[in-house]
Amino acid sequence: MRQPATASDGIAPSGPAGSRHAFVTLVTNADYAMGATALARSIRLTGTQADIAVLHTGGVHQNALAPLAEFGCRLIATDLLPLSDAFNERHARKNLHSAAPFTRGRKPDFHSPLDNFCKLRLWQLIEYERCMFIDADALVMKNIDRYFGYPEFSAAPNVYESLADFHRLNSGVFVATPSLQTYETMLEQLDTPDAFWPRTDQTFLQNFFPDWHGLPVTMNMLQYVWFNMPALWDWPSIGVLHFQYEKPWEKDHPKAERLRPLIDLWHAYFNGGIIPEIAALENPALPHPD
Ligand code: UDP
Ligand code: MN
Repeated sequence: MRQPATASDGIAPSGPAGSRHAFVTLVTNADYAMGATALARSIRLTGTQADIAVLHTGGVHQNALAPLAEFGCRLIATDLLPLSDAFNERHARKNLHSAAPFTRGRKPDFHSPLDNFCKLRLWQLIEYERCMFIDADALVMKNIDRYFGYPEFSAAPNVYESLADFHRLNSGVFVATPSLQTYETMLEQLDTPDAFWPRTDQTFLQNFFPDWHGLPVTMNMLQYVWFNMPALWDWPSIGVLHFQYEKPWEKDHPKAERLRPLIDLWHAYFNGGIIPEIAALENPALPHPD
């Protein structure tokens, strides 16, 4: 039998909370620390008063975390979840990739699927009334504080190829209410004998919250929409831009030319450069009607 979960099991915050609301992200290696740095700057530029809480594992060097501390992020040291060896083996990168291959895009080498489950530690952060999780490979384009008022569990659809995508959620952005009871129930349901979650936390969360509430698609605008569904792109309405699959800082990036304007924008946030007026950026070209 598992002991009841507490707020401090496996997590150690660097300091107290500074707000009732927090943007929460996750960083388990130096690559995603780069992502979180650009994300943290983008959040700061929105003028929000909410905390930025960064869950980080021991795999991240202090040097990689220093820029996040400079942005006033609340760093929270985090262990991986207490899961069975069999669960960990089934969700190890090589096993997951062969059991449930990715056919629509490419995951970078530094992506470890097992690490994704750490997102569930958000429910342990009971010092906050409401949290908004945002993947470290995303940017916030404008103030999105009003979504802290959305109910648990709110997420945007996983749209980047066709209308059929609206049936599923993307767990790169979600609004939730921390609760140890929920956290504990999640751990119980996550690691049952033979449980396999092909898209890790995303598959699990969609299963755990079958009646999930919708955030607008603009709250998690996926980069492939730029070339697959350009009619859906509208800079002034985008709240969160999410670089799913290939990351904008990857050296060997097979889609770099097709995504150039988005990658350049990410680098402007990362390098501390001047950020253009987002609403005035040019939308992608639409195919000619004929
Ligand atoms: N993540 C991490 N280390 C990993 C894998 C994932 O820190 O090895 C975190 C990070 O916040 C990342 C999120 O989990 O943004 C989800 O992974 P990713 O964004 O690469 O998935 P995608 O959006 O491409 O499906
Ligand atoms: Mn992501």
